[in-house]
Amino acid sequence: MATFGQSAHVSPWAPAELGELPPVASLTHGVWLKGELHVHSRHSKESSNNPIKKILTFSKSVGMDYICITDHDNHVNGDVAHNTWTDPEFKSDSLLLLYGAEWTTTRGHGNVFSARPYDHQRLYDVRDQRDVVVGAIKKELGIHLSANHPSGKDHFGYSYDMVNSIEVWNSAVWPKNANAIMIWDDMLSSGRKLTGRGGSDAHHGEPVPPEQATKNTYQAKANYVGTPTTWVFATARTAQAVVDALTNGRVCVSANPFAPRVEFYADLNDDGKMDMMMGDNVKSTGKPVKFRVQLTGKIAAGAEYTINVIKDGNKFGTFKTDGQAKVIEFTDTPVAIGRTYYRVEVEGPLTDYPQVPGSMALSGNMVGLSNPIYFNFDPNF
Ligand SMILES: [Zn+2]
Ligand SMILES: [Zn+2]
Repeated sequence: MATFGQSAHVSPWAPAELGELPPVASLTHGVWLKGELHVHSRHSKESSNNPIKKILTFSKSVGMDYICITDHDNHVNGDVAHNTWTDPEFKSDSLLLLYGAEWTTTRGHGNVFSARPYDHQRLYDVRDQRDVVVGAIKKELGIHLSANHPSGKDHFGYSYDMVNSIEVWNSAVWPKNANAIMIWDDMLSSGRKLTGRGGSDAHHGEPVPPEQATKNTYQAKANYVGTPTTWVFATARTAQAVVDALTNGRVCVSANPFAPRVEFYADLNDDGKMDMMMGDNVKSTGKPVKFRVQLTGKIAAGAEYTINVIKDGNKFGTFKTDGQAKVIEFTDTPVAIGRTYYRVEVEGPLTDYPQVPGSMALSGNMVGLSNPIYFNFDPNF
């Protein structure tokens, strides 16, 4: 017994100094692109009045840059490639079209985002296998996999170790996402660098002619493309750059395409120049860091916003913009050994979305959210 009592246990996983991390990518060489990552066309059986052409025309009309049409793969036995992707309407001369589908399984739903066609059938076929099998196929396919509406009836019942992102904001109904946010913070706090993103999950379009209305038609004016809108800071205007930005977390989500974009930066050496943005991960020096939140876009004169900062899953502070500059700054010192992350949520006056007017009341006063800025997250985790 004494021997056991005396042995000092040392966990090989205890926080320790990390080796060099990859350098932070440029903060200026890139382009902000906005888009929709979860929408169903006529190839999903329960959708109505929502052919691909209607979705794309609408998306263009509200200024979207990219879109992923994510039909239920189980409605076509996994053969998305010969349904959504070969639909003659699946083309655009201005929008970046991602290839994807909603992986619709007994254990929950996930979206795939890919810059090019991939063999979705293989992912569909392994849906009921052990996670280790699913994870191997996902890796082979080289796809970005994202957990959808992770809490609720179709909660994501797989390991988060095989997903690149999580849908933290599903549909215009913001309040129902509280548990998704909780899961996200749990995954982040346990060392998983996981991108948060949005998706309307819209199924229903405007009926033309009106006689084709269904019992769900009211949804077209309440939850449609862009509620919410996911912004990415991409290195180029290409589908691959959109997927890469999603994977890297240079992403924020806004209530609609016209609501302010939430940009989140940090200055590591107090020279007034920002050194990193959301999604970026650096080694902490143990010195104070200055953070900046900047709201960009059409903002009503005099409008004030409340910015809630979350640090490691807990509320860190609340800041208010002053009605003039839409920027707030704060300072904190991430620990030298061990992980720290900061992310922000913005509340305030709603920005009009006249094309989907019913969405505004559903979103409450939620304006947008950022992805985290990371310190000491192990890239080999
Ligand atoms: Zn779903
Ligand atoms: Zn869906």
